[in-house]
Amino acid sequence: MAAVPDHTEHSAALFDRASAVTPGGVNSPVRAFRAVGGVPRFMTSGDGSHITDVDGNRYLDLVCSWGPMLLGHAHPEVTAAVQAAVARGTSYGTPTEPEVLLGEEIVARTPVDKVRLVSSGTEATMSALRLARGFTGRAKIVKFAGCYHGHVDALLAQAGSGVITLGIPGTPGVTEATTADTIVLPYNDQAAVTAAFAEYGDQIAAVITEASPGNMGVVPPRDNFNAFLAKTCTDNGALFISDEVMTGFRITKSGWYGVDGVRPDLMTFGKVMGGGFPAAAFGGRADVMAHLAPEGSVYQAGTLSGNPIATTAGLTTLRLATDEVYAKLDRTALTIQSLVSTALDKEGVPHVIQAAGNLFSVFFVESEENAVIKNFGDAGAQVLPRFGAFFHAMLDGGVYLPPSAFEAWFVSSAIDDDGLAEIESALAPAAAAAAAVQS
Ligand code: PLP
Repeated sequence: MAAVPDHTEHSAALFDRASAVTPGGVNSPVRAFRAVGGVPRFMTSGDGSHITDVDGNRYLDLVCSWGPMLLGHAHPEVTAAVQAAVARGTSYGTPTEPEVLLGEEIVARTPVDKVRLVSSGTEATMSALRLARGFTGRAKIVKFAGCYHGHVDALLAQAGSGVITLGIPGTPGVTEATTADTIVLPYNDQAAVTAAFAEYGDQIAAVITEASPGNMGVVPPRDNFNAFLAKTCTDNGALFISDEVMTGFRITKSGWYGVDGVRPDLMTFGKVMGGGFPAAAFGGRADVMAHLAPEGSVYQAGTLSGNPIATTAGLTTLRLATDEVYAKLDRTALTIQSLVSTALDKEGVPHVIQAAGNLFSVFFVESEENAVIKNFGDAGAQVLPRFGAFFHAMLDGGVYLPPSAFEAWFVSSAIDDDGLAEIESALAPAAAAAAAVQS
């Protein structure tokens, strides 16, 4: 049972101390609650579907470490495998067996022929871009507004004005030269892709997209967008890179690939495949991957790449993620979506829920009439203060949601009927809190 949080003084004290030594008090910006206000909760433990903060408040967790904790927290078999691995030694800087096993598992579950392990999703997308550029001998990259691929300089680009524009730096510290080869297009817009290839076709090394975007809220591909991108790339000698860092091994045994079956030239993975430890990967066509050092000349490396603890945690997680687990995740996600809609409808709060398999998010739209979120522009047209009120009421009710309206909600297979009942009882006051905010 989630305890209704009534004390936050230990979190507040830690946040003060953290802010004295760390910019903004956090080691990754969205953790800071800036979008919703209030004091971020400092967690101290997790068990199954719940996490507990330093004040002893227990929450039903719908963030799941932003995706990795597919099986819930401190799963006994993952914990045992990790403990045994740690006891043997933690890192050697040599090849080890668990990396081979994890590589085999990824190759078996996905369409990639070969895979290279890295330590974060950012490293995976950065390396995939370098490989695509090295393989094609071309410089330009196409990405979509609202898709997040980690904090790779070239991918931290915002669209300039107009539909096809070269990227402008999305943050200070990224130079114009770095984003000059990044073309940013609206998501789900086939005409914009066609026009970009008409203008720059022989200079484009790759199109990178989230397989089904979750970083502007959940905005699935429409009208076979991925198949269209794959074909456009093939027709123009560019590579199609599908970023499955969020969706990979979460939505199905492979990821979004298991839903639309579009075979990319390169793919990126992270989150679930590390089982809560830093492990990520990129992989793809054998002829492309052959260009990677030491087989080929495109350099890429990492001191802790394929770390035996991280690969053991990831491998154990994937082996436990059976068809039954994915079926349960789907059922749980559908139940939560229906509970959310029922509660918001009861209070007359306009909203749209969009899902990609078991990933979903709730958009607090002005009006439900014709409300479909197809791209970043649509996602931005929300009554954001409603989400803030809803978020805090859920938190007070013992349910931990992503602290931003532009994020997917993540379920774990540890959520049982009691957990669903906790969500249901938190939802009634949260819907009322959202209703109380005027648009
Ligand atoms: N790609 C996608 C689709 C992601 O959602 C993320 C992180 O949220 C990344 C890449 C970056 O991964 P990491 O945070 O491990 O660097």
